[in-house]
Amino acid sequence: MMNEILRDHDGVVLEAVGVSKSFHGAQVLTEVDLRCRAGETVAIIGPSGSGKSTLLRCLNHLEQPSAGYVRFHDEIVGYGRRGDVYVELSERRLVLQRRKLGMVFQRFNLFGNMTALENVAFALRHTQRIGAARATAEARDALAGVGLSHRFDHYPSQLSGGEQQRVAIARALVLKPEVMLFDEPTSALDPELVGEVLAVIRELSESGMTMVLVTHEMAFARQVADRIVFMESGAVVAEGTTEAILGAEAPERIRRFVGQHA
Ligand code: ADP
Ligand code: MG
Repeated sequence: MMNEILRDHDGVVLEAVGVSKSFHGAQVLTEVDLRCRAGETVAIIGPSGSGKSTLLRCLNHLEQPSAGYVRFHDEIVGYGRRGDVYVELSERRLVLQRRKLGMVFQRFNLFGNMTALENVAFALRHTQRIGAARATAEARDALAGVGLSHRFDHYPSQLSGGEQQRVAIARALVLKPEVMLFDEPTSALDPELVGEVLAVIRELSESGMTMVLVTHEMAFARQVADRIVFMESGAVVAEGTTEAILGAEAPERIRRFVGQHA
């Protein structure tokens, strides 16, 4: 079984295979498959409550599937039908793996008592044994990379929502992740602040970062995604190129959804 799973990755670095999840008997994900190749941007769209966040959380083991497995390179964490773990990683491997999977949430969750620079440097110092001077230097670079050179010493309360989210992105990037997972990164922002955050994500996508992006910004998904996955009621209903899923030939159900979110 193991050999079969590990044979022929075809460039897929991160995947969910047959992932199901239920909470207290309520099935939230049903045998979901998702693949992400190196350098690819995969966008997940779909109605609220369709399981998009739960799937992302399963990908970096914030949530434990009830069945199926998640593979990152040649490391697999798998679950049996009763939720029993049949392939387990050591806590140490799990921590290392999570570090390579950067996650940005809808809410930025910055530390209010730390400046932008301190928030980013803290992430680095908390996860890696590096000196304060080097952590600060790398945090500066990461903030500059998201256009916040002029905000190093500002506290979250002194930053706009868009700036706070860019600090959160810098905080994830400073750890040099291999894959970035974005969960509706702009849905908590005032409309006028959405653009600056999307610009940062677009640049990241174009620079070749591998990413899985849950978004309700259809125009943006169209611009950056190499592949789009449409989820509904806990299942992947359709998956394909941007044209296949967002184009005029897309299935009626998807066109209706996209029409409502255009
Ligand atoms: P989406 O991100 O697509 O809006 P979610 O993954 O957040 O969907 O949620 C899918 C379903 O799972 C929803 O019905 C939600 O209420 C439920 N759910 C998510 N997390 C939990 C949890 N920790 N406990 C119970 N139910 C949950
Ligand atoms: Mg969600």
